[in-house]
Formats: sequence, C-alpha cells, structure tokens
Amino acid sequence: SSSLFAAIEMAPRDPILGITESFNADQNPNKTNLGVGVYYDDNGKVPLLECVRKAEAQLIEKLSPRTYLPIDGLAAYDKAVQELVFGADSSVVKEKRAITVQAIGGTGALKLGADFLKRFAADNAQVWISDPSWENHRALFETAGFTVNNYPYYDAATRGVNFAAMLAALNAMPSGAIVVLHACCHNPTGADLSDDQWTEVIQVVAQRGLIPFLDMAYQGFGDGIDADGQVVRRFADAGGPLFVSNSFSKSFSLYGERVGALSIVAASTEEAGRVLSQLKRVVRTNYSNPPIHGGQVVATTLASPELRKLWEEELAGMRVRIREMRQLLVQKLKEQAPAHDFDFVIKQRGMFSYSGLTKAQVDRLRDEFSIYAVDTGRICVAALNSKNIDNIVAAIAKVL
Ligand code: PLP
Repeated sequence: SSSLFAAIEMAPRDPILGITESFNADQNPNKTNLGVGVYYDDNGKVPLLECVRKAEAQLIEKLSPRTYLPIDGLAAYDKAVQELVFGADSSVVKEKRAITVQAIGGTGALKLGADFLKRFAADNAQVWISDPSWENHRALFETAGFTVNNYPYYDAATRGVNFAAMLAALNAMPSGAIVVLHACCHNPTGADLSDDQWTEVIQVVAQRGLIPFLDMAYQGFGDGIDADGQVVRRFADAGGPLFVSNSFSKSFSLYGERVGALSIVAASTEEAGRVLSQLKRVVRTNYSNPPIHGGQVVATTLASPELRKLWEEELAGMRVRIREMRQLLVQKLKEQAPAHDFDFVIKQRGMFSYSGLTKAQVDRLRDEFSIYAVDTGRICVAALNSKNIDNIVAAIAKVL
C-alpha cells in the first residue's frame, strides 16, 4: 500500500538552524556559535531581563483566568506598542490613523501584513527585499503568493550600502510595488542607511507611490529606542500607506513567547477602522487570537514607569555591550592581523556583522577551531564575550 506521503521530498535544512545542529553535535569544549540570531550576555547566556522577572511577578500575584484575547490582541499592549513605534506625540497616533495588532512575533507580523496585502494590494503588485535580507523575508512573501525581487543593497567593496544602485532600483519600481525595508540594524549586514539617505528613500517612495513595509526587529539596538524609531516616524510623517512589523524577541529577550505587532497607517480614522476590520479577518482565519503571556509582560513593563525605566536601562546595557565587543574585536584583530582592516565592524549596527570572511574561511573556523559562523560571513557580535574573544580573534587571524 502506498503512503500519502510516499512522494514527499525532504525539505532543505534551514541554514541558520542547521549551523546550530552541527554546533550541538561538536564535542570540542571550546566550541563557539557565532551563527546564532540571539543576544547573549557576557557569560554566553540568553538573559532573563530583570524587568521581565518583575513584570511576571506582578502578573503571578494577580493571577487571572485565561480567557481569549480579542482578535487584535491585548488593548493595553497594542496601545503601548503603537506609542513605542510611532512616538506618543505622533500625529498618526493622535489622529487615530494608525492601527496596531498584536502578532506572533515579528515573523507573525510580517505574515499578517503579507496576507493582508495579498488581499488588498493591486493584483500584479510584487514585493522587493534588500539583497541580501533576513533569510525568511523572501519565503514569507512568496508563501503569501507574491513574486519577490531583490533591490541592490550591500556593497562588498565598501562594506556599506550601494546607495546609488538602491535608489535607482526604487526609481524603476512600478507604482504600488511593496518595498520591505529594515528600519534599523540591518540583518544580516549591519549596514544601515544614513539620515540623509533615508530622506531620499522616503521621497522616492512617496513620489512613485510605493508601499513601504518597515521591518523593525531590533529597536533599541542601534542608537536607542527613540533614535531607532525615527525612520518609522519620518515615513509616517511623509503620508501615504505604511506597514510596520516590530518584534520584542530581542529587545525584551522574549524569543520563545512570540511577541510582536503589525501596525498599518491609513489616510483617515474611518479608513483605519475598515483596515483593522479586515486585518482581524486575517488573524481570525490563521490563529483566531494571539497568546496572552508575552503581551501581558510587555504591556505591564511599558505601562509602569519603574519597569519601563528598568527595561530601557537593560536594553541600553545590551546595546553598549555589543558596541564594546565591536571595538574589542577590531582592536584585537589590529594587533593579531595588522595587514587587514576591520574598522568597518565598528560602523555596523545591531547584533550582526558581515565580517567579510569567505566561505572557505568560515569552513576553516569550523573544522579547525569549532567556531561556527554563517557561510556568508555573518557573525553575531552578541555571541562574543570577554572570555571567548581572544580565542576567536586568534582563530580568525589564522584563517585570514
Ligand atoms: N525580521 C528580522 C529582520 C529579523 O532579524 C527577525 C529575527 O531574527 C525577525 C524579523 C523575526 O522576529 P521574531 O523572532 O520576533 O519572529
């Protein structure tokens, strides 16, 4: 008898999770995983933030029954997130033109936005993502039914953004094209646009009638919560439709709780109401309504002046430690491999660095030193710490 599944082929391994599998199987006690996408503290551990611990203690004290949340999530969460993303004094918030729904992490927010756009964007609308981009962007939008294209972004020669090529690509896109942009801390390259470059992008997007979809998974890891939110605020001020997905996986170290949100800016309060009603249908037909716990932790933290202050301090601590690791990496490489210039690593922002290491060098790091990085040379700077950095620098110097 033939099985229903007899002809199913094995799906390709996820490139990043594949690295973790090989890492876990490695017996070397000095092994290091720089391929990850999470923040580790100086002890190499994923932190449980103190603000989260305290918010959870408060929630335990007033244990409440687990009813269903509304389809669009916890109201207090949606409101707090909106103010965080757009700024409390934002005109789109005051005019009630922005709607925000709780989502299953940043990934879930992107998927909601993609499904919504598939229903309501022009039939022939296509999606453009940066080259390279977070590896799930393409798959998410393709799975929602879109054709996904790349716009030029990273320039290996300058280790920065090829802005002229990016702008030319935006200028050649048809009206109604959906452009996915990383609001800050570009994953995987660490290369962000300057304020002046954003000004030009915002202009072209408005002039050509493109649909901007800002993905903000690292708010607070660049220059700070408000500074990183500036790009979102500037797009909102420019008018036109706007999609923003955001995630608290990294900024609250709440990866497994799946806390994120999707915000959409409409032209009027009345239009926003209709948008929300349709977005709720997308939620309803996917998972009905979101889980409670993570949303409550974030809402509790953001609503309490004391916990919010603590969160901002802890987030600043993560940001500063990553910066220190960038400095230390560059300084130590200067000592051990003076012929190579790594100064660009200091300019990169967020958790990642496109290190410039080739696939052959990444292979050697793994095979000879049990140091795991992504084939593209992406390393997670947040996986470096005061204990492992000397080993890592010595190994890099040997494979260069
Ligand atoms: N977008 C980008 C650019 C990311 O780097 C990530 C996570 O790595 C996400 C979205 C997804 O976030 P989440 O883990 O909250 O789904």
